[in-house]
Amino acid sequence: MDDYAWAAGIATDLVNTAPEVWHGEDKLPDLDSLAAFAELHSIPVDTRPSDLRAVHRLRLTVRDLINYPDRTELIDGASVLTSAVARLTVLADSARWAVSIRPGSTVTDSLSLLCGVGILGVVQVLGPERFRKCSAPSCQGAFIDTTRPGRRRYCMPGLCGNRVNVANHRARRASAR
Ligand SMILES: [Zn+2]
Repeated sequence: MDDYAWAAGIATDLVNTAPEVWHGEDKLPDLDSLAAFAELHSIPVDTRPSDLRAVHRLRLTVRDLINYPDRTELIDGASVLTSAVARLTVLADSARWAVSIRPGSTVTDSLSLLCGVGILGVVQVLGPERFRKCSAPSCQGAFIDTTRPGRRRYCMPGLCGNRVNVANHRARRASAR
C-alpha cells in the first residue's frame, strides 16, 4: 500500500514547481516542461495546449489543500480531483488500488487523479497533520509528509534543508567572532 505515498510525492513535486517557490520562476512554463514532468513521474504523456493552464490551476488547488489541511476539506477537495477522471477502486483480492483512466484522458486528468489519490491516502492513513508548509523561512513551498516518523520539515529537503543549515552555520560563525 505504498501507492498513495508515490501519488502524494507527485502532488508535492507539482506544488513545488510554482513560481512562488522559485522567486518568480515557474518550473512548468510551457508544454515541453509539463511533458518532461509527466515523463519523469511515469505518467502517460498526452499533452494538449489547454493542459498548461489546467495544470497550473490544479497546482494552485493542491497547494491550497496542503496549506490549509482540514480533514473534511482535504477529503472533499481530493474527491473532486478524482471524480471526473477515471474509475478508481481497490482490488478485492490484493487490496491494491486499481485505476482505469478513461480513453482520451490528458496529462491534466492523470495528474488530477494522482494528486487526489495521494491526498486521500495520506488523510486516511496518516492524518491531516501530514500536510505542511515548508519550514525554511524564505520558502513558500508546501509538501505532504509520507515518511514513517512524520518529521519532515522542508518541501525539498536537499535544497531548503541545506539552505537552513548553511544559514545556521553562518549565524553561529558570526556570533562566535
Ligand atoms: Zn522549501
